[in-house]
Amino acid sequence: MIKVFEAPRKYVQGPGALAEAGKWVAPLGKKALAVWGARVKQQVGEQLTASLAAAGVELISFECAGNCTRSQIAAGVESARAANVDVVLGVGGGRSIDMAKAIAWETCQTVVSIPTVASNDAPTSAETVYYTEDGHMDGWAVWPANPDLVLVDTQVVVEAPVEWLIAGMGDALATWFEAEAAYKGRRTAIAGGVSTVTALKLAQLCYEMLMENGEQAVQDAALHVVTPAVERVVEANTLLSGLGFESSGVCTAHAVANGLTVRKETAPCSHGARVAFGLATQLCLDEDITQEERLRVIDWMIAVGLPVTLEELGLGHITRNEIMDLAGQFVGAGSLAHNHVQAVTAYDMFSALVAADALGHQRRAMN
Ligand SMILES: [Zn+2]
Repeated sequence: MIKVFEAPRKYVQGPGALAEAGKWVAPLGKKALAVWGARVKQQVGEQLTASLAAAGVELISFECAGNCTRSQIAAGVESARAANVDVVLGVGGGRSIDMAKAIAWETCQTVVSIPTVASNDAPTSAETVYYTEDGHMDGWAVWPANPDLVLVDTQVVVEAPVEWLIAGMGDALATWFEAEAAYKGRRTAIAGGVSTVTALKLAQLCYEMLMENGEQAVQDAALHVVTPAVERVVEANTLLSGLGFESSGVCTAHAVANGLTVRKETAPCSHGARVAFGLATQLCLDEDITQEERLRVIDWMIAVGLPVTLEELGLGHITRNEIMDLAGQFVGAGSLAHNHVQAVTAYDMFSALVAADALGHQRRAMN
C-alpha cells in the first residue's frame, strides 16, 4: 500500500511573528495579493503592509466578506490576474485562507497562510472547502501542494475572542480519533495514500497536547496573554491537527460536522463546535473506545467550553424522526463515516447521535 505524507514548506509561529512577515514572504514573491475581511485588514493591515514593504514586497488588497464561495474566488482570481501578483496571502480565518489557496492555484501557484485565529486547521492543508452564500457546504477542492508558508502570530491570535481558540480545539481534538479509525481500515487519506506512522503519531501528539494544555490555554487566552499553554494549543490546533487530518484521514466526527450544516439552526456555530459534537457521536459509535476514555474526552470538552449536546448547536427541539433523517444523510454515498473499519448504517449513526446527546446532557449536569 502506498503511504503519503504532505505538509506546508515552512511553519513560523510566535508572539510578534507578523512583524517578521516580510522576511519570510520576500523569498516567495515581490507582489502579494492579501485576501482578507474588512475587520482583519483593520486589525493587522498596517503592520503587515509595513513589514512586507520593508522587505521589498508590494501588497494589493482583496477584501472578501462572508463565506468561501465560488463567486468570491472568481473575483479574487480576476484581481490577482489584473495586478499580476506572484504570491497570494490568506489572512484571517479559514474562509480567507481557503479562498487564497483557490485563487493562488488558479494564478501564481504560490500561497501563504497568515491565520489571525487558531479556530481551524485550514492554514497548513492543501484543500479549499466551498460554501454557498447561506453557509451550506458545497464541495471541496484538493490542490497539488500545501501552502509555501504558514505564519502565525500568537499575540494576534489571543486578541481574538477566546471562542475561536476553543473552536479550533474542537476541530483538533477529533484529529487523533479520526486518524486512528481511518488507519485501522487503511483508508486513503486526503493526501492521496494510506497514513504513515509519522502522521498518526502527530495526530496522537495533537490530542495529548490539547488534553494537557487546553484548560490553561483557554484561561490565558481569555486574558489575551501568550503563555506556553497558549503556544502549545495554537500549535496543536494549526499545525498538528492540519498534518494529522490531511495525511491520516477523517471519519464520523467530520461526517457529522459537515452534515449538520444542512440545518440552518447550526449556522451560528463554528466548524470546530460542530466537529466537537461529531466527535462525541463518533465516540458513541466506535466499539474500541473505552467508557473511561469516552468520559475523559466529554468532560474535557465541557471544561474547555465545547458543545456536547444537540441543544448547544441550536437543535434542542429536534425530533427523533428528524435525527433519523439526518443520520441517513450522514451515511450517504461517499460519506466520511465509511472510513471506519466497521460498516456504519443509518441506524448506527442515529443511535450514536442520540446516545452522544444524552451522555452530553448527563455529564454537563454532573460537571
Ligand atoms: Zn475540520
